[in-house]
Parts: sequence; C-alpha cells; structure tokens
Amino acid sequence: MAIIITDECINCGACEPECPNTAIYEGAEDWKYADGTDLSGKAVLPNGKSVDADEDQEPVSDEIYFIVADKCTECVGFHEEPQCAAVCPVDCCVPDDNNVETQEELIAKQKFMHHE
Ligand code: SF4
Ligand code: SF4
Repeated sequence: MAIIITDECINCGACEPECPNTAIYEGAEDWKYADGTDLSGKAVLPNGKSVDADEDQEPVSDEIYFIVADKCTECVGFHEEPQCAAVCPVDCCVPDDNNVETQEELIAKQKFMHHE
C-alpha cells in the first residue's frame, strides 16, 4: 500500500529529498507524474488511470507535506523500507489503508515509472 502523511506533520521537509519516486511534495505545491520519473506525455497508469504526465496536478494538501499515492511504491524497487517513514521525526508517514497494493503491484508500478 502507499504511505500517507497524517496531519501530525510538522512541515520539517526531511522526507521530500529521500523519496526515490518524487512522490512527496510540500503543501500547496503543484506536482507532475513526470517529476523524477521516466514518464512523459499521455500515459495509462498500471491502475488504469489515463494521465498527462507533464500536466500540473492539484496539491493533495495545502497545509502539510503530502504523498501522491499513484507515485508511491512504498520504496519497493529501491529500498528495504519506506524512506519517508524512516526519517520522519514525528512518525507521521503511515500505511494508507485506502491504497492497498500487493508486492507485485508495487514492483509493476516502480518498473512502469522508471522504464528507461
Ligand atoms: Fe516515497 Fe518511499 Fe515514502 Fe513512498 S514510501 S512516499 S516511495 S519515500
Ligand atoms: Fe512532515 Fe514527517 Fe515529512 Fe517532516 S518528515 S515534512 S514531519 S512527513
């Protein structure tokens, strides 16, 4: 499953540079599927969603750092454990029960985003 940042986030920014998928953004920041991935132009995600990878997307939160669930692989493909959770000083990066994925799905997601 993807990781989610709870409202206990203190906006320290420690997690953002640690994410191998560029799935973490500062509150109120626009984001793109193309940021930090090999995606560009029109793409169909492994979950079936059609997106324009180069298009600005609305922030998930205006107040605190947020994780884009479509880009988070729980660090599968890069690290043994979620790096955001490992560095967060207040332990507010937690599993997102609304975005449960199998190990195979996470591997496929990582390969899809980093295919070049
Ligand atoms: Fe990024 Fe890994 Fe945290 Fe997901 S678990 S947001 S991929 S650092
Ligand atoms: Fe928020 Fe934790 Fe990330 Fe700091 S490391 S910005 S407290 S989620």
